Amino acid sequence: MSTSDSSQFGTKQESCKGCSDQHVVNISESKMARLVEIASRSRPVVQDEEYERRLSSCADCPGLQYGTTCRYCGCLVQVRAKLVESICPFPYESRWSSSNV
Ligand code: SF4
Repeated sequence: MSTSDSSQFGTKQESCKGCSDQHVVNISESKMARLVEIASRSRPVVQDEEYERRLSSCADCPGLQYGTTCRYCGCLVQVRAKLVESICPFPYESRWSSSNV
């Protein structure tokens, strides 16, 4: 996997494996926080405890790419996990169900 420098984030950035070095796929914490805030404006959100539980499941999931993206749905998990209506699309069984914690 190739990498490229990006002064915008001040760290080495990982490139999308399908797009050569043209497209950086990492998202800064501040930008992610902004995206979560925007998504949360008009939709019900989960409590912090449930949010952390979901993200913990994502962190251990083989489907998590670049630390942010679910390979099964293409969503940013930090945004998806925040919304009450969201489900985990892991094949055959949600990794967010309480039995997997
Ligand atoms: S499959 Fe579920 S647990 Fe895995 S990264 Fe996607 S949302 Fe997270």
